[in-house]
Amino acid sequence: MEIPVHCTLCPRRCGADRTRARGACGGGGKVKVAKAALHFWEEPCISGTCGSGTVFFSGCALRCCYCQNHAVSAGNFGKEISVERLAEIFLSLQAQGAHNLNLVTAGHYLPWVCEALRLAGDRLRIPVVYNTGGYETEEAVAALRGFVDIWLTDLKYRSPALAAEYSDAPDYFDVASAALRAMLAQAGPPMYDADGLLQSGVIVRHLALPNAGRDTRAVLDFLSGLPRGGFLLSLMSQYTPFYRAAEHKALARRISTYEYRRAVEYAVGLGLTDGYMQQRSSAKEEYTPAFDLEGV
Ligand code: SF4
Repeated sequence: MEIPVHCTLCPRRCGADRTRARGACGGGGKVKVAKAALHFWEEPCISGTCGSGTVFFSGCALRCCYCQNHAVSAGNFGKEISVERLAEIFLSLQAQGAHNLNLVTAGHYLPWVCEALRLAGDRLRIPVVYNTGGYETEEAVAALRGFVDIWLTDLKYRSPALAAEYSDAPDYFDVASAALRAMLAQAGPPMYDADGLLQSGVIVRHLALPNAGRDTRAVLDFLSGLPRGGFLLSLMSQYTPFYRAAEHKALARRISTYEYRRAVEYAVGLGLTDGYMQQRSSAKEEYTPAFDLEGV
């Protein structure tokens, strides 16, 4: 495996020499992980009854000011490990009964992750879920062909201004929508096992933000133009003003019941009914795991 000396793994293409320095994402020359454990708070077709075998990677290429995992994403909390150890972690999660392997924010460690999946090889029999903020290059999606079964991707914003203000990524929609089309073409429509657990396909997550109903509706308009039946929509309500959200007046509160209901009604009106709509009351701190190097 070659460590990038002019890194272009993510859309920031910051050009860091990863053999000597950390990039804008916090990623250096060794893969870094904050936690590896069974996780029960994903969509039901992912978490099932036994949990999703989740690996949280340290650092992130996006800079969302409201990140619920900011200690790991912006704070870069975690432990550097070898790719051999990463492969062992994958297999350990499978041995614990995980329905799938769930790689959270792994894009800036793409070569390390692919190498670890290669090392695990046929011993890893559960589906691989690639859990991403959506800010991925099309090249990254192509490189993961044959490794990833389920794309669990965000589509956070339609507006470049909102993406710039909240995630320092004005090109977010252009990049994420192109990546999403590539994921859909690669994975095909959702396929389930006999227990209703997703085996392959795409889940598109959209976190409804306060005071951003117009942008949520624009995201849903875009999604309604994609082939019907090709993906599941998870319209999420659990926004909580974490991290630096208080610096943005519009983000300083949770979304209202009215805002969320309006988003759901709009999605249903567009025919986007395959997927998950959360009750606003389900917003809980449990969505934020304790980052403690468990399983690392
Ligand atoms: S993955 Fe990290 S180091 Fe590589 S281009 Fe993106 S921000 Fe820079």
